[in-house]
Amino acid sequence: MNRKIVLKSRPVGMPAAANFEMSEVSVPSIQEGELLLKSKFVSVDPYMRGRMSDAKSYTPPFQVGEPIVGGVVAEVIESKHPDFKSGEDVIGMFPWQEIFTVPGNIANKVDGNLAPLGYYLGVLGMPGLTAYFGLLDIGKPQKGETVVVSGAAGAVGVVVGQIAKIQGCRVVGIAGDDQKTAYLKDELGFDEVINYKTVPDIAKAIETACPSGVDVYFDNVGGDISDAVVTQINNNARIIICGQISLYNATSQPVGPRIQPTLLKKSALMQGFIVSKYTTRFPEGVKQLAKWLLEGKLVYKQTVTKGFENLPQAFLGLFEGDNMGKALVEI
Ligand code: NAP
Repeated sequence: MNRKIVLKSRPVGMPAAANFEMSEVSVPSIQEGELLLKSKFVSVDPYMRGRMSDAKSYTPPFQVGEPIVGGVVAEVIESKHPDFKSGEDVIGMFPWQEIFTVPGNIANKVDGNLAPLGYYLGVLGMPGLTAYFGLLDIGKPQKGETVVVSGAAGAVGVVVGQIAKIQGCRVVGIAGDDQKTAYLKDELGFDEVINYKTVPDIAKAIETACPSGVDVYFDNVGGDISDAVVTQINNNARIIICGQISLYNATSQPVGPRIQPTLLKKSALMQGFIVSKYTTRFPEGVKQLAKWLLEGKLVYKQTVTKGFENLPQAFLGLFEGDNMGKALVEI
């Protein structure tokens, strides 16, 4: 049996299982220069919500009736490309299909003996590199400064907080679940944690958790949480706009407080970025992240859902806070 999952319809507001459709397909035949691949781990990521819509963005939209495409680690079943052998594992932007063919030149080898295969989609892959370059290149955290990260228990956030600790910063994490906040504080060494779903006043909670104010804010979520963090920034603060997940399902233009006067008065920098901007520096990032993992300075958590058919549910769970660390589906 070979199955694929396509975009059945474009969501309005919160996506639902009905926006996806699974069907059986035959195993494709392999052409010269191609690889026949079998999916092992499939990544579900918040940015994929943007590709489900047809709004213009930095990546083209998924096509209705076509498979969803995302980060996948797959095993080479058969190779007609000189650089690959059957049995090797590769990573790439591949379709949500159990067995499929791709041109060999869009696949990169990964080694499951060096790191768990899922890590190549997480801490050693796109989310880890996003944390690394966003925090260090834009945030430029200095020893003793206070770094706040929202979406703190997610794939990017757990890496941001730990790198900030490695830099000698005071780290405050914001997440939406007591189990997550306990993990961040007790196991990852965050200095303070805030459950944004249970605190009565998020701005007050940030003020209490950051008695010296906020020097660096790594924004994964946007919306009310970020509005509250901005009220607490220090002079020369750096605000890194990485993600805005709280707004991805908005059906009208979100409106918030005007923050420009605060940025002006505090001489603050606010900068958005897409991790692909750093593609040429990825080897540097992977090398440093792998070193910290080996040294035990960085630990990584994954939430692994089993079964190809559960891909849509794992994706939808990102908007419900179902995952801690990187959300993956093991096929
Ligand atoms: P993730 O955190 O693993 O998964 C999403 C998490 O976001 C959920 O577990 C949930 O945790 C939180 N969340 C969901 N809805 C929320 C809401 N309405 N308000 C506040 N929190 C909410 O995702 P990730 O891969 O680490 O990505 C984090 C952010 O970075 C996303 O916005 C993503 O789009 C962005 N990103 C950007 C780049 C880039 O190049 N700029 C690259 C990768 C990711 P709680 O339980 O805490 O609510």
